[in-house]
Amino acid sequence: MIQYYHINGELTPVAEAQLHVTDLAIMRGYGVFDYFRALGGRALFVEDYVRRFFNSAGLLQLEVPCSQQELMERIQVLLDENGEDKAGIRLILTGGYTTDSYTPVKPNLLILQHPYATYPAEAYERGIKMLTYDYRRELPVAKTINYVTGIRIQKWLKENGADAVLYYDNDTIKESDRSNFFLIDPSGKMITPKDDVLPGITRMKVIEVARELGFTVEERPVRLEEVFEAQEAFMTSSIKGVLPVVSMDGKAIGSGQVGEISGQLGRGFEALVERYVMAKV
Ligand SMILES: *Cc1c(COP(=O)(O)O)cnc(C)c1O
Repeated sequence: MIQYYHINGELTPVAEAQLHVTDLAIMRGYGVFDYFRALGGRALFVEDYVRRFFNSAGLLQLEVPCSQQELMERIQVLLDENGEDKAGIRLILTGGYTTDSYTPVKPNLLILQHPYATYPAEAYERGIKMLTYDYRRELPVAKTINYVTGIRIQKWLKENGADAVLYYDNDTIKESDRSNFFLIDPSGKMITPKDDVLPGITRMKVIEVARELGFTVEERPVRLEEVFEAQEAFMTSSIKGVLPVVSMDGKAIGSGQVGEISGQLGRGFEALVERYVMAKV
């Protein structure tokens, strides 16, 4: 049972966890967050996520009211108190209670625990369908709480039989709304957009895994047309791991079936997760 959240340094019963309505997150959508899994009662790759959270906060000129070390300790306190083996952890830093509805004052720091989330198993077996959408995320390197476009187009995606979006800007592909994007080119190289994307922790780990497995990985600008020449494609995120993509804008990618390499990288990534968990317990 998830009984507690950690709010501004205090372990707080879920029912009592609240913020005042003047928070800049409500007034202007101003804030950053991060999200990761916990397995075996330990947060996965927590150093990497906490570092990214501090970086996102800095990009919004917000100061996290504790050190990275202290934040990791608070996360562990929350996990220990709630006593769940598997969980999702969400960090949120808001602009705080503003007096003029515009100026950040003292950020509010929330650590929330959610039930462990997984993506439906059949999605990995049959792969997912994507649609491209012309959109440039504002401050792409920061994990802000602004998902206006991603949420607004959910209905459009569903109506068009798609599972997820691929953002592009100036004929250059970027990422999905909450995931990074990779393709395997006709020569077997793994390619992923580099600039103006959220530096995904799963993206980073999958690149590590791919290099260990002997793949050549290129991080560089990727043109939209390269997607249609690819033999395989997949998305990565903390919840999804490596999720194969089999079609783009109604056209099959490669054979239109889940690719061998995507499967191999997915298993490699899960093995890396196992190793991390084993080393921590
Ligand atoms: C969270 C997120 C990702 C994936 O990052 P992970 O650290 O792998 O979970 C990718 N793109 C965007 C826009 C995101 O918000």
